[in-house]
Amino acid sequence: MVRKLFVGGNFKMNGDLANLTKLVNQFNEAELDVESAEVVIAPPALYLLPLKELARKGIKVAAQNAHQLPAGAYTGEISLHQLKDIGLEWVILGHSERRTLFHESDELVAEKTAAAIKSGISVIFCIGETLEERESNKTEEVVARQTEALAKVIAEDDWKHIVVAYEPVWAIGTGKVATPEQAQDTHNYIREFIAKRVSQKVADETRIIYGGSVAAKNAQELCNQPDIDGALVGGASLKPEFTEIVTAAE
Ligand code: PGA
Repeated sequence: MVRKLFVGGNFKMNGDLANLTKLVNQFNEAELDVESAEVVIAPPALYLLPLKELARKGIKVAAQNAHQLPAGAYTGEISLHQLKDIGLEWVILGHSERRTLFHESDELVAEKTAAAIKSGISVIFCIGETLEERESNKTEEVVARQTEALAKVIAEDDWKHIVVAYEPVWAIGTGKVATPEQAQDTHNYIREFIAKRVSQKVADETRIIYGGSVAAKNAQELCNQPDIDGALVGGASLKPEFTEIVTAAE
């Protein structure tokens, strides 16, 4: 089973129209093999439309969050229907910053993910343990719990619209990348969990990508692991280095 490599760039709440335009132009000019890797960048909501129009074919654009309801009195929110309306194919859901800072529960993230799939939008579904959880040997319990919440609310066939991003919280934005062995162990655990909970076919086909301080210097070793199918990149996606990460991952 060959899973197509997936590299995402999460800009978070960074950049402005001028410097993100410059950055995407740099990505457009780089020699990226978008046939062997799916490349998806996630700018702040305000810039989704202009950057989607600017990005060359093969570089897709994702939202960083969405509301689960189609419309209504939810000041400040953006619906999945609206993301679909501007032609987006991807959304990041359950990022640890949403879970922690905005109190999104496992159930809410799962509900949003199910709603996204219904709206025809694929999901970068983020999971991962905190440092405290890792130190108390709860990593597997946490990623199983987060994945179980999703397995409960989507059908087997829906998994083809999911990329699981394993992002240990202690590795996000800290420069403390998980070792390839640590990441591989958890990716393998997640894949086995999906095999048992959903099916072997879904486990074999679902891409599980790693996030947390991915850089050009560590991307290749991480992506060489048998159960690591790409990366979700934060800080380094705001630099031309992002294109080196895509190439290294390939
Ligand atoms: P980082 O962020 O690459 O800056 O650690 C990753 C993420 O939050 O997706």
